[in-house]
Amino acid sequence: MPILSPEEAFKRVIAHAKEYGFIFQSSELYGGLSAVYDYGQNGVLLKNNLRTYWWKSMVQVQDNVVGLDSAIFMHPTVWRASGHIDAFNDPLIDNKDSKKRYRADVLVEEYSEKIRQKAEKEVVKARERFGASFDEALYRSTNPRVVEYLAKADETLSRFNRALEAGDLAEARQVIVDEKITCPVSGSANWTELRQFNLMFSTKVGSVAEDASELYLRPETAQGIFVNFLNIQKTGRMKLPFGIAQTGKAFRNEIVARQFIFRMREFEQMEMQYFVRPGSEMQWYEHWKSARMRWHLALGLGAERYRFHDHDKLAHYANAATDVEFDFPFGFKELEGIHSRTDFDLSRHEEFSGRKVQYFDPETNESYTPYVVETSLGLDRLFLAVLATSLDEETLEDGTVRTVLRLPYEVAPTQVAILPLIKKDGLPECAQQVYQELRWDFQATLDEKDAIGKRYRRQDAVGTPYCVTIDHQTLVDKTVTLRDRDSMKQVRCTISELANRLHASVSMTTLLKKSI
Ligand code: ATP
Repeated sequence: MPILSPEEAFKRVIAHAKEYGFIFQSSELYGGLSAVYDYGQNGVLLKNNLRTYWWKSMVQVQDNVVGLDSAIFMHPTVWRASGHIDAFNDPLIDNKDSKKRYRADVLVEEYSEKIRQKAEKEVVKARERFGASFDEALYRSTNPRVVEYLAKADETLSRFNRALEAGDLAEARQVIVDEKITCPVSGSANWTELRQFNLMFSTKVGSVAEDASELYLRPETAQGIFVNFLNIQKTGRMKLPFGIAQTGKAFRNEIVARQFIFRMREFEQMEMQYFVRPGSEMQWYEHWKSARMRWHLALGLGAERYRFHDHDKLAHYANAATDVEFDFPFGFKELEGIHSRTDFDLSRHEEFSGRKVQYFDPETNESYTPYVVETSLGLDRLFLAVLATSLDEETLEDGTVRTVLRLPYEVAPTQVAILPLIKKDGLPECAQQVYQELRWDFQATLDEKDAIGKRYRRQDAVGTPYCVTIDHQTLVDKTVTLRDRDSMKQVRCTISELANRLHASVSMTTLLKKSI
């Protein structure tokens, strides 16, 4: 890929996603709806494959995790019990000059990150200056400038967070004022008051206005799992530890919805709640931390693109939390959350429902509220991670450039394209036969239009791992060429061998085995 700035590279990903039928803006015909997107003919296949990869690894390959598909609408008290009605807020602030709205916490986090980056720059310079004798840990803890930057970054963030936690919005705003944080658009520090804004969408159910009651579109899928804990534990005769997994839409009225499908108002989550005996939660937290990282790494996007970000500041109900961060085109950001949530959710549902939500442990002969370790991944963010990392422009030996989407083979939208070399001499008929055979087991496509080189490029651009070309030789000996997307190498094999060869490298089984 030619060297592009991160902004240019990201723009290219967005343009590619649209041009090749992966992602369209919702209601584009009417001018678009902000932060809502539709997945097109290729996008839906890739998205389904990513979901299947997650689902099979959770529900099929694990022997103690079962699935669920709970409704988007839930009893409104669920959201009181979960804390979403009272506390699912983002602090927002407007700049009076640019009229732009910001999440105050994001402004402060970005500011603090900039200061941290200054410290990192000092470290890099020192590393270059001192070479092999450089003691980085010592430098970080003793160099006055580095120490000062890091302390300032931490202090600013913790002062802001303390203020928010105490509900002191004036003090939280004062942090922005004192640090002279400015609006990136107007450059001014002319800020409004800071307000808390609830992220849940509400709607009414019932046909008569007076009787209608307020419902919320779920802001996470997890609560559907908690309220079904007893149903599943009892009917499935589940013994602790066990998990419940589900995928589905979630809705959040995000204040600042930017960055394409990274932050949407309607998105999809893939969540798994693992119910464990109290006291064993840390062991399971560590277990899922490494299991989830292994799962991500199996996609082959590169280990250097992932890191854990352990939370210092924990929600009051959590006793450990980390984010799996991914190196998106706009930097490292949260891809998945892994949280040890204690017995908070089940206890709250017990309190608000008045029903006993506990587990009878036949080994210890006692009833208790299980603890929960959850893994929560955004399907759209995963999609963006895979798409953005896969898009490549390669300069070939003859100087031409090919755009190739180096998607993991197992999740590519189309697995194989069948291409008759020319559109005569019986080659199209033969291609049709091969296509009819392969389509039962593979997502296959038949493409006869344009010169063969152009058709290869078209398949490269949507990430199709294999092209099967039917030529005159095929009519003689039933052999075809099989072209590999990444190496562009072609091998000759018989038609009857095709299915096995394809299966070996595009089957989800291969990926699942790598992920465990
Ligand atoms: P962020 O801090 O980025 O807003 P979060 O911590 O609120 O995310 P969680 O509530 O932990 O996110 O949700 C779990 C996962 O759901 C996230 O890791 C992310 O992948 C996904 N997710 C959350 N909000 C959105 C959104 N608005 N658009 C797309 N995906 C989202």
